[in-house]
Amino acid sequence: MAEITLESLTKVYPDGTQAVSDLHLDVAGGEFVVFVGPSGCGKTTALRMIAGLETITSGHVMIDGQVVNDLPPKDRDIAMVFQNYALYPHMNAAKNMGFALKMKGLPQNEIDIRVREAARILGLSDALHKKPRTLSGGQRQRVAMGRAIVRNPQAFLMDEPLSNLDAKLRVEMRAEIARIQRDLGVTTIYVTHDQTEAMTMGDRVAVMRNGLLQQVAAPKELYDRPRNLFVAEFIGSPAMNLVMARVERLDGDTWVSFGPHRLRLDPATLERHDGLPAYDGREVVLGIRPEDMEDASVAREAPADRVISVVCDIREDMGSEVYVHFNVQADAVLMREVVEALVVEDAEDEETRLAAERARGGGVVFVARLDRATEALERQPVDVAVDVTRLHFFDPETGVGIHGSPAGAT
Ligand code: ATP
Repeated sequence: MAEITLESLTKVYPDGTQAVSDLHLDVAGGEFVVFVGPSGCGKTTALRMIAGLETITSGHVMIDGQVVNDLPPKDRDIAMVFQNYALYPHMNAAKNMGFALKMKGLPQNEIDIRVREAARILGLSDALHKKPRTLSGGQRQRVAMGRAIVRNPQAFLMDEPLSNLDAKLRVEMRAEIARIQRDLGVTTIYVTHDQTEAMTMGDRVAVMRNGLLQQVAAPKELYDRPRNLFVAEFIGSPAMNLVMARVERLDGDTWVSFGPHRLRLDPATLERHDGLPAYDGREVVLGIRPEDMEDASVAREAPADRVISVVCDIREDMGSEVYVHFNVQADAVLMREVVEALVVEDAEDEETRLAAERARGGGVVFVARLDRATEALERQPVDVAVDVTRLHFFDPETGVGIHGSPAGAT
């Protein structure tokens, strides 16, 4: 299967918009890579350059080592599945799936074999005679996939193929697409703005922001070791709690304090973040994922130096778990967007404005994802035990994660 290499891929639209900047990526044969990022970050533009539907400003797209920059889309042996998979309404599912092959002049018996095989893989065998209007949303989506599969391409490029489906169907179809991709072993690049889709489907996930690749890694690596604040906030739901904190050495131990709270770091944590000693006595951004906290009263062990005492503001019963929101009287992390909003009287974006408000007033809202055994009640104190082995640290100036390299900390 095709290996796809992007070398310094860059797109500047005629109006000057820099949509993709200096993108480097190696996609191995048979690999499933997901491009994820907020709206406008350049995912679709990157995909369209790979497909040959968008001209390349500079850099290269290579398929199996060959530069294809000037190769027309039809000669790239790539099949695309789009968000708007407009099926031909007057053709049944089988004809829709086989149409491209017919246009290529394949004999009808060969087309029939390929369509039947794709239908089998997709669980569509009983619906081949149906016209699109009598198919369910999920079946229509499968027909669109079928159109790509019958072409037996070297690679699939998919652009938000599930965004027209309802939430339940999306969950079903994302498992289905991942399974089909594994079975067929076709190199796949998949674009989505949905981080859950990215994390559950991709062998590797490429996180983009403002046309720049932030990090590309396997889902677990992305989650456990986000390279910077943007990736840390973007991946995970509810999002990672972030707060300004201070690292201090006291009586031979290293502590991280934020507002009135203080946690003692254990040796293993310090070893994993061996850049941390360089921040002794300085500010860092501390990140705590919601699931790395538990109610100390029901926790197996909760030593006092790993517990923060807070007041539960909101309790959300999710059935399987409980989300507890509480306020931490410490400084919020002022990301660049928020700082800009602070100087703009009427920030247009409501979310940015609210973030700026919170930053102004001091105090940060934390969300903890607690076991349903918790008896935390709204407006009542609750002791929250923090798993200090899973803390995250970032440089407050650069937003870069403080992991291994002490050199990066200076
Ligand atoms: P979405 O998830 O909303 O589709 P995206 O991450 O796929 O977003 P792109 O569609 O690649 O982002 O757009 C990247 C940037 O390029 C955006 O700022 C967008 O406004 C801009 N852009 C896209 N197409 C054009 C065009 N034809 N001319 C000028 N600018 C464009």
